[in-house]
Amino acid sequence: MSLPALYRCCLVNKSSDGTISLSLAERQTVELPAGDVTVQVQWSSLNYKDALAATGNPGITRKFPHVPGIDAAGVVIQSSSAGFPVGTEVIATGHELGVERWGGWAQYIRVPAAWLVKRPATLTLEEAMTIGTAGFTAAQSVQALIHAGMTPDRGPVVVTGASGGVGSLAVQILSQLGYEVTAISGKKNQTEWLKEIGARAVINREEFLTAPNRPLLAATWAGGIDTVGGMMLATLLKGVQHRGCVTACGVVGGADLPLTVFPFILRGITLAGIDSAWCPDESRLEIWNRLATDWKPKHLNAGKTVITLDDVGPAVENILKGGVVGRTVIRI
Ligand code: NDP
Repeated sequence: MSLPALYRCCLVNKSSDGTISLSLAERQTVELPAGDVTVQVQWSSLNYKDALAATGNPGITRKFPHVPGIDAAGVVIQSSSAGFPVGTEVIATGHELGVERWGGWAQYIRVPAAWLVKRPATLTLEEAMTIGTAGFTAAQSVQALIHAGMTPDRGPVVVTGASGGVGSLAVQILSQLGYEVTAISGKKNQTEWLKEIGARAVINREEFLTAPNRPLLAATWAGGIDTVGGMMLATLLKGVQHRGCVTACGVVGGADLPLTVFPFILRGITLAGIDSAWCPDESRLEIWNRLATDWKPKHLNAGKTVITLDDVGPAVENILKGGVVGRTVIRI
């Protein structure tokens, strides 16, 4: 199939006075970067990192103009890769997509074949993007807990930022695997929803953070999946039982970690870092296969909002305010 001359995308621009703007644009397809595979994108999604890219955060967006979108799912329309012939339905998450390379908030992307995963038979493209980087990261975090020996019989496992993308999918996957999940959330009005998707208990974020500022707290939790960072992660680590494991992926609550080494040297706790963008290929395939089968979140649709490229502006503002519940998928 030949590419049209023009395609629609969402573009971040920086003006000469430094003002950042996000708008819909038509660009020429000849501008697509070099790569093995051109994909006609059907679905993308909104992650916290996309919102940073869309507002020109210098940690993410270094070159302007830029097309955000760390997730894309669609159909191969041009290919020099034997593994991904024309017509193959594919998922692209992470690597440099939407960061160094123009991303999935567009009708077309062109990427190296190594960045693609074939759509598993039991996931639609829309479901794959409802999972997206957020669900992949949640699953990668669950995998890290399992590798650290965290079986469900060890006790309650905490998920922070529980109503967000990574958090809500982590709650679902953990509870489906038999873990007793305690969700920490700043949204009092989402308590019932968090219980519906699998949380056994829900603790308000402020209440959780009122714990005394001591090097160690009562050993309450078997472990946890932290999506927030900062004081939230520090408080969680201080309250984990002997030999527990906590995963860390996020910074919405801050990048500092106000903590002593005592949780590590007195309780043998493991802090497992999660880097979804550069997850090794073998592990990436294994995680997608699990997400398509026994780890497929049962409440994917319950926590989903569908928008189009016309609606991304307000959605970006909302996620930066911590206001998003579940996942936002973008129909391209
Ligand atoms: P979301 O915005 O969907 O979820 C974040 C949630 O954190 C919010 O919904 C809110 O949940 C809570 N929250 C927001 N602001 C604060 C705050 N100031 N203090 C405490 N809690 C807060 O984002 P994502 O799920 O997409 O991403 C979560 C984090 O994980 C981000 O920092 C993101 O960059 C990171 N991430 C990292 C990846 C990696 O590979 N390392 C991959 C994917 C994401 P509630 O109201 O329920 O408390």
